[in-house]
Amino acid sequence: MRDADVAMYRAKADGKGRHAVFDARMHERVMARLDMETDLRQAIEGNALDVFYQPIVQVATGRLVGFEALVRWARSGGGFAEPAEFLPIAEETGLIVALGRSVLETACRSLAEWRTVPGGEALTVGVNVSHRQLSEPGFPGELEDALERSGLDPRALRLEVREHDLARDAESTRRTLAHVLRTLGVRWQIDDFGTGASSLRLLHRFPGDAIKIFGPLVSGMGHDGGSFEIVKAIVELAHNLGLEVIAEGVETAGQLEHLRVLGCEFAQGFHVSAPLAAQDARALLAQGALVR
Ligand code: C2E
Ligand code: MG
Ligand code: MG
Repeated sequence: MRDADVAMYRAKADGKGRHAVFDARMHERVMARLDMETDLRQAIEGNALDVFYQPIVQVATGRLVGFEALVRWARSGGGFAEPAEFLPIAEETGLIVALGRSVLETACRSLAEWRTVPGGEALTVGVNVSHRQLSEPGFPGELEDALERSGLDPRALRLEVREHDLARDAESTRRTLAHVLRTLGVRWQIDDFGTGASSLRLLHRFPGDAIKIFGPLVSGMGHDGGSFEIVKAIVELAHNLGLEVIAEGVETAGQLEHLRVLGCEFAQGFHVSAPLAAQDARALLAQGALVR
């Protein structure tokens, strides 16, 4: 019965009207997932999750303008677990709500402190929020609490909402974001723009403050023919709608140069800097410009 249940779960996950035949690997995967869920729950409860900060620079000057906060989880076996692996489990189990709250708290506190450092006054921080978090009725209140407790200027915070998540529950997500913007002054931006099919319609209906171009499109510039043209079109479109553009996944000096030519405002990626532990990010502040 247990094995049949596992197979049924698999079939349902594949879509409607499917069937699946149980095999031993399915069982192993279910057990590995359960282990991960248990460990993740403990990590969240024990405050064992960490936040890394990836620098974002102004393309024209190379000046550091802010960071994106990225969750990191050092598992007891050694090494970091991949967000791409544990975040879907966190979403499914609802653990993402507690995880997101803790990342938000930590990021707001770090930035409030860094903005008191000479030269750091105007720094911003991007925090990723998932669809699940946005649909929690308590979300705006938690956001307000995190801002109040940390003393961070709400205008320094940028909520990053993936294009894919905006498309899922468009109306209520839009309402929540509009409310947060109106009452708290917190800005938000579309993350991973260029992955979904409904991008253009979304842009029109979601007057956010900026868009972040999906990393692989940017990393593709100089390697494949189409990426440059697509990035160019996205930058132009965004500018015509009055939105700023942040390019993710900038991996080479050539790509940064392309972005400069296109008039893209901000950049983030391994060429600028990998995500950094808090003390390393803090140490960067004195440095000012990161790339030329
Ligand atoms: P994202 O928000 O688009 O973040 C950018 C991802 O690209 C990060 O992966 C970053 O480490 C990676 N990256 C940065 N520069 C480069 C580059 O030059 N080349 C390549 N190939 N990759 C680069 P990471 O940290 O593994 O996070 C993956 C995704 O997980 C994030 O994508 C975001 O959607 C989600 N995520 C991360 N932290 C959180 C969080 O605290 N809450 C929520 N809800 N989601 C999060
Ligand atoms: Mg992001
Ligand atoms: Mg992204």
